[in-house]
Amino acid sequence: MHKVIIIGSGCAGLTAAIYAARADLSPIVLDGYEPGGQLALTTLVENFPGFPDGILGPEFVENARKQAQRFGTEFRSGAVTSADLSSRPFKITAGNETYETETLIVAAGASARMLGIESERHLLGHGVSTCATCDGFFFRGKDIIVVGGGDTAMEEATFLTKFAKTVTLLHRRNEFRATKIMLDRARANEKIRFMTPYVIEEVHDVDKKNVEKVRVLNVETKETQELETSGVFVAIGHDPNTKVFKGQLDMDNDGYLITHDGPKTNVRGVFAAGDVQDHNYRQAITAAGSGCMAALEVEKYLEEHGR
Ligand code: NAP
Repeated sequence: MHKVIIIGSGCAGLTAAIYAARADLSPIVLDGYEPGGQLALTTLVENFPGFPDGILGPEFVENARKQAQRFGTEFRSGAVTSADLSSRPFKITAGNETYETETLIVAAGASARMLGIESERHLLGHGVSTCATCDGFFFRGKDIIVVGGGDTAMEEATFLTKFAKTVTLLHRRNEFRATKIMLDRARANEKIRFMTPYVIEEVHDVDKKNVEKVRVLNVETKETQELETSGVFVAIGHDPNTKVFKGQLDMDNDGYLITHDGPKTNVRGVFAAGDVQDHNYRQAITAAGSGCMAALEVEKYLEEHGR
């Protein structure tokens, strides 16, 4: 029987682990499909206070992991395949093991949707990005592409014009899912050029570990062409990793966990932190903050229940 299990080892989960471990709760962190979370997929992090020269995302995650281990956190690999929150202790299954725990922190994150092409995967963090706020700065004066037709794509394209020379917004249909106001704002921006209906077939150059051009396909005419670009921002949405909690934890229509009074969910003793409950800010610092809050609430909950 554990006092606290933390699902997810991104910024929120690791911060929760540091706090819970320092409170002597011997937390177990279940790593999940994407150990380290979104930060592990990025390069330089320049907006986390305390690192005047920035820090590489994977290095940041590794440091936080060591920090959590130093105070007694145990890490177990494997993604959660089922969760039973209907009775206490809660039961969480990951890999071949089922864990029993008094409290739970869900910090399972939200995974950025990707286009699903091989070259995109190889160049992630090397010109391919899923976060304009994180990486926009590196594309000052450059020509870049944003993929997507929803509000996120409009918002990111508009934001990126602060840095980029030009932004090509590439979308697979001629119609947009984005709200009118966001679409109009992007359309009114003279640095943004719309290209529809196009999909990216290939990102070059995998060998040079650098984005130099993309091959795009017009899905109506089936014609292909190459576009020179320094960066590709994939802005086609995120999927929160909450499937195993369906019917147990309250979520919104997009599957994000609903919290109240900070990190509390509808089940007492279950807390949520980071992107799994936040589709708005999605920053390392906000995830870390909510991870801290979740751990403090766990401590309070255990004290109140005399354990
Ligand atoms: P979204 O509304 O689901 O839009 C995703 C877009 O990506 C769609 O246009 C979709 O194309 C495209 N797409 C999906 N998979 C693709 C693929 N494999 N290849 C190419 N294109 C693909 O997601 P979102 O833009 O992230 O927005 C999510 C929610 O957050 C929405 O409710 C949105 O209003 C909200 N949001 C609000 C704001 C704001 O108000 N400031 C900012 C961001 C997000 P199709 O249209 O063809 O399916």
